[in-house]
Amino acid sequence: MEAFRVLVLNQSYEPINVCGAKRAIKMSLLGKAEVVESGEFEIRSETSQLFLPSVIRLKKYVYLKIRKKKVPFSKKNVLKRDQFTCQYCGSSNGEMTLDHIFPRSKGGKSTWKNVVCSCRVCNAKKGNRLPEEVGMILISKPTQPVFPLIGGFGKSSVIFSTEKWTKYF
Ligand SMILES: [Zn+2]
Repeated sequence: MEAFRVLVLNQSYEPINVCGAKRAIKMSLLGKAEVVESGEFEIRSETSQLFLPSVIRLKKYVYLKIRKKKVPFSKKNVLKRDQFTCQYCGSSNGEMTLDHIFPRSKGGKSTWKNVVCSCRVCNAKKGNRLPEEVGMILISKPTQPVFPLIGGFGKSSVIFSTEKWTKYF
């Protein structure tokens, strides 16, 4: 269950942390936080069932010393954001590379919103063209991840936003 990450909002709706689902449920049961977005995963017990939270909001405002940081743009971080899954065909087999949605040869920049994880096949198929030109559709819209490393996560577990989280950033 700890694999399911929950975005923690301050009372002001400002994102301040990410925690495991277990902790988030505990906080909401104790009345310290309220669930503002439910996730897709359901858990059941004999007497009840509930969806794992995706976003919770603290009931008391917490003053923070740490400001949120943006995740540095790098090949490794783009692959992590896209979970090593080709953003065109959904494959996660084989070696992944980066694709510039708006091609570099046409002035496309290396930014979070213009670069996605792509398999070799899709990358070759797309070449120096725009996805529309070759009838390719992105699985999801690439975003700037804004959420690493607050709350003592290890280097290997940089946390990225999901669509349910995006509107809070
Ligand atoms: Zn592909």
